[in-house]
Amino acid sequence: MDDCIFCQIVDGDIPARVVYEDEDVLAFLDANPIAPGHTLVIPKTHYETLGDVPAEHANRLFAAIHSLTPVVEDAVDADASNIGFNNGAAAGQEVPHVHGHIVPRFEDDGGNPIHAVAGSPPNLGDDELDALADDIAAAADEPRD
Ligand code: AMP
Ligand code: ZN
Repeated sequence: MDDCIFCQIVDGDIPARVVYEDEDVLAFLDANPIAPGHTLVIPKTHYETLGDVPAEHANRLFAAIHSLTPVVEDAVDADASNIGFNNGAAAGQEVPHVHGHIVPRFEDDGGNPIHAVAGSPPNLGDDELDALADDIAAAADEPRD
């Protein structure tokens, strides 16, 4: 994707502070970090959201996040981290090339848990929760790719 800023980083056309690279995955420091060590992990192939990523690439993406997270935490002497994807524009995704955020966290840093990202919590009754769980469980059994 010529006009994708993360594809341009993958291609070496614009600079980034790369911290990890393999055949399928690139990780680099966020240019506007919300914490020291804030790192983005992307598939080198352009996919817009997680649902677009084939299983094999998703596995490699998660493997990189899994191995990088403690490395990033240690590098900035963090106490913890939040790992998240803004998955789609309505969820705050601004760069339409799927990327996981590793955000190091520190005791008393004034931040919030991941629960703070959503709007007003829904008021769902037991029947609605049961139906939702059934629907998702049935759909989760369907092959996706
Ligand atoms: P999101 O809202 O999840 O799409 O976040 C996009 C992230 O990409 C933001 O945290 C930006 O600071 C970051 N970002 C945008 N352009 C660059 C760039 N050229 N190099 C590194 N990070 C970037
Ligand atoms: Zn891209």
